[in-house]
Amino acid sequence: MAPGHRSILIAGAGATGLAAALELARRGFHPRIVDSDAGPVPLIESRALGVNARTLTLLAPSRVTDAILQEAQQIARFRVVSKGRRLADLDTTTIAGPYSALHALAQGHTERLLVGKLSDYEVVPEWETSIVSVSDDRSKPRVTLRKADGSVESASFDIVIGADGAHSTVRKAIGIGFPGEALESSFYLADFRYSQPVDSHFAEISLVDPGMIGRLPLERYVLRYISTLPDFETRIQHPAPIAERVWASNFRVHFRHVDTMSRGNVFLAGDAAHIHSPAGARGMNLGIEDACWLAWLISEGREAEYTALRMPAVQTVLKQTRQLTSLITMRNPLAIAIRNLAVPVLFRLPAFSQRLLHGVSGYDTPPPPWIDGAL
Ligand SMILES: Cc1cc2nc3c(=O)[nH]c(=O)nc-3n(C[C@H](O)[C@H](O)[C@H](O)COP(=O)(O)OP(=O)(O)OC[C@H]3O[C@@H](n4cnc5c(N)ncnc54)[C@H](O)[C@@H]3O)c2cc1C
Repeated sequence: MAPGHRSILIAGAGATGLAAALELARRGFHPRIVDSDAGPVPLIESRALGVNARTLTLLAPSRVTDAILQEAQQIARFRVVSKGRRLADLDTTTIAGPYSALHALAQGHTERLLVGKLSDYEVVPEWETSIVSVSDDRSKPRVTLRKADGSVESASFDIVIGADGAHSTVRKAIGIGFPGEALESSFYLADFRYSQPVDSHFAEISLVDPGMIGRLPLERYVLRYISTLPDFETRIQHPAPIAERVWASNFRVHFRHVDTMSRGNVFLAGDAAHIHSPAGARGMNLGIEDACWLAWLISEGREAEYTALRMPAVQTVLKQTRQLTSLITMRNPLAIAIRNLAVPVLFRLPAFSQRLLHGVSGYDTPPPPWIDGAL
């Protein structure tokens, strides 16, 4: 059978599922993509706002990158401050390649750009349609779907992709565990819209000791604050009068990943396969990367290699985010003092700052072999 004629079902129309659908569609497949929600993430909920250089590389062939660059905010500098003193100031545009390390765009915008491009291939997500079960038949998995009107559909597919998030029904249905651990502390975030434009070209971490408050640009009028402190909003030094507190949330950080990303012709991608802290802004980007690799492997008839090729990338990113998270959540006063002394020294070392930028750009995982000259 010609690869393009294989029937493919994608569970989950988040960034991962949409990227998988798009990468398959532009190679001649016509996947079905279903999602239990009524539509993409609401625009008001910024959620995963960091889009890294690797994602821009991966979405360039489908031209989604052009659209992201039109809408996104470039994060040109990354700063670390403590008690009003600037410990580090990194120029993120110095990374080699066509893109700077990180841009900011609310997750709902990124998802809508993917949905829009997908419609060029006449692939439309089937919203309010949940996957409820996946059969044990590994070569031709049978899936049960429940639709908004309560009707149930049962169908078999050559390939099923579980991109249905951290609580993945697909992962549970095929009996793959999700080992790992949860951090004791939570993260808190709030997005503020100001009554006038604010300096939105840099991201900053203020070390409060113990704890931190991160400031990330979202738009010219909107900033995201993220912190390890429940009372962080009382400590923010706002750069302009507040027009509106747009969105707030808190979450507990887990570090988990599956031991295998596939069973037979059922594959897991994105948060369904791995979750970690938001430090480094890797989550959504790693999911998009899984999706693009899987689509390429399916088009080559090499999908059996998916776990072996992706697992090292997953492990690298979990390790990096764990290290960054322990740096910003440390509580021991001596360790904090040593860190604060070391940060200015380390950031002045070109080898250190380039390594950090390499990771933030997403370039610490294997480059996509199907894109010429990709870093
Ligand atoms: C506060 C916060 C900030 C973050 N910041 C960043 C960041 O800056 N950069 C970054 O890269 N990542 C960030 N992340 C992580 C990022 O949001 C996730 O990693 C990303 O959304 C994962 O995408 P996904 O498509 O794999 O999963 P999801 O976004 O969880 O999408 C899964 C989809 O599956 C659907 N679904 C679930 N169950 C079913 C079912 N049974 N049937 C059908 N559909 C189903 C859901 O409705 C959903 O649409 C952040 C996360 C949080 C919480």
